[in-house]
Amino acid sequence: MTAATFTFELIAQQGHARAGVFHTPHGAIPTPVFAPVGTQATVKAVTPAQLQEISASLILANTFHLYLRPGDELVAEMGGLHRFMNWPGPILTDSGGFQVFSLEENRKVDEDGVTFKSHIDGSTHRFTPEKAISIQENLGADIIMAFDECAPPYDRPYNESAMARTHAWAERCLNASHRTDQALFGIVQGGVFPDLREASAQLIASLNCPGNAIGGLSVGETKKEMHAMLDIVLSILPAEKPRYLMGVGTPEDLIDGVLRGVDIFDCVLPTRLARHNAAITKTGRLNLVNAAFARDPLPIDPECICYTCLHYSRAYLHHLIVAREMLSATLLSIHNLYTLIRLMQDIRQAIIEQRLNEFAQKVSI
Ligand SMILES: [Zn+2]
Repeated sequence: MTAATFTFELIAQQGHARAGVFHTPHGAIPTPVFAPVGTQATVKAVTPAQLQEISASLILANTFHLYLRPGDELVAEMGGLHRFMNWPGPILTDSGGFQVFSLEENRKVDEDGVTFKSHIDGSTHRFTPEKAISIQENLGADIIMAFDECAPPYDRPYNESAMARTHAWAERCLNASHRTDQALFGIVQGGVFPDLREASAQLIASLNCPGNAIGGLSVGETKKEMHAMLDIVLSILPAEKPRYLMGVGTPEDLIDGVLRGVDIFDCVLPTRLARHNAAITKTGRLNLVNAAFARDPLPIDPECICYTCLHYSRAYLHHLIVAREMLSATLLSIHNLYTLIRLMQDIRQAIIEQRLNEFAQKVSI
């Protein structure tokens, strides 16, 4: 695989934090960036036009789910993910590893790959590194991920063996990938063990991928442990390539990650909270099902300039939720996604203007 179509431009740095641009065949991604998650090739309840309006630049889709339904070959037949879901910008697919290993009783791992049962119809399937790449080549995202194994964070023997497999599988993924319009990222594992994280970061860095990811964090360990692992890994991963922290996305985690040198984040949190009637605001989460909002004329966040906050009151959102109207999920998702995307834009500007520390202290989100 060659990745000549992908370049990472560093524009400014402050401490470990970086502002950059990752160029992909479907457009530029200003970093640091928060990527909304579209598990089933749709960011739940939000149209691509709405995503563009809130300046989303990178969208995630899920290999495991799309392989099972509707099938990666069908997506390829329909012109690939960009056309299928009508998202013209950059897309990232995960490798399916995280979902397969989350199946616990319904999967069996060996050195060559994983056999698992579908949660949809109970049918048996097998993922190998080569299969994970072939699926992702059919889906056609700009950024694709190596097939990895995420172990429970505190289990040392399991982390040792899972990490060894992750390393061997990353090399097999590199050998199996052929498309020059896709950037394959390797993934660092190693649980909460400093020596394993160090060894994993060194091995993944040596593969010379166009970008590198950090997996197996925010999976049950403490914040302190997550930060310690990030400090180790980010001191080793090459500075001239983008670094992606997988599945992490509370406002606090985004700021902490950027301060340590992370460029790309994704998380289901903003859209999941929206479907549970919760809004992310600078003063904490608001649950709009609460009767206290029934006559509240204010928008979710008076300072927010998203479509939802410019046009709708808390009282209206409360009414939609109580009446079980679908629009509540859409309006809350727009606000929550915009809040995180805007936070990243503001952080990026603060890095460029060399005032990140003041900004980070001021943000109470
Ligand atoms: Zn808003």
